[in-house]
Amino acid sequence: MMKIKVFLLCWVFTSVLCSHAQEFSVDLLSGRVAVAMRDDLSGLQPEVVEAFKKMAEAAAKEGVVLKVVSGFRSYSRQAEIWNDKYKTYRKEGLTPLQVVERITEYSTIPGTSRHHWGTDMDLVDEAAGETEGLLVADKFEDGGPFAKMKQWMDAHAGDYGFFLVYTNDPDRKGFHYEPWHYSYAPLSKPMLKAFLELELESLIEPAELYGGQLLRGRLLEAYKNEHIMDINPQLKN
Ligand SMILES: [Zn+2]
Repeated sequence: MMKIKVFLLCWVFTSVLCSHAQEFSVDLLSGRVAVAMRDDLSGLQPEVVEAFKKMAEAAAKEGVVLKVVSGFRSYSRQAEIWNDKYKTYRKEGLTPLQVVERITEYSTIPGTSRHHWGTDMDLVDEAAGETEGLLVADKFEDGGPFAKMKQWMDAHAGDYGFFLVYTNDPDRKGFHYEPWHYSYAPLSKPMLKAFLELELESLIEPAELYGGQLLRGRLLEAYKNEHIMDINPQLKN
């Protein structure tokens, strides 16, 4: 009898813990708030920081100095990026729809960035001494300044829970290949699951965004299927 009671207690306790762990607020998922602002590592969540530090320590032993160049990013910062790019591409003569397509080759619609979650980061190798134009795919290929980091990450990042999001798979749609953008799977997988339960349209504030009136209906549906969901399978539930 005692054993059953103990078992039941444990079961109740763990299920409460688990269900709590799966809850993420809409504000958190859409970049309106950060879980924890950590000055040392760009506002990443504490669990992510811990895992990252272990990985960085191991990489450093082999001469790779992992550096986060972009971690947590707020909705308002993403909105600035969106509006700046929108103005630039419109000046180049693209139609509003073409502009949206161009921006979403690499940048997200504000409210939908994985950088809002504090689980994702853009990484370079500080040991390479490169200071400008860092996030360019060629630089991570053989002969490029970040090739050594890429090789190390290919071999070891998964052991620490980190995976590339936008892989080089030619059949993948959505965002272009980003050999710098990693996600901490143990946390970002449940966050993606929670995110997909939200209505995308409700996360976007069209009045604040150039071309905002286009961000709805079929365009948004395709964006969800391709940009949000067509990612590295290791980051999906
Ligand atoms: Zn990124």
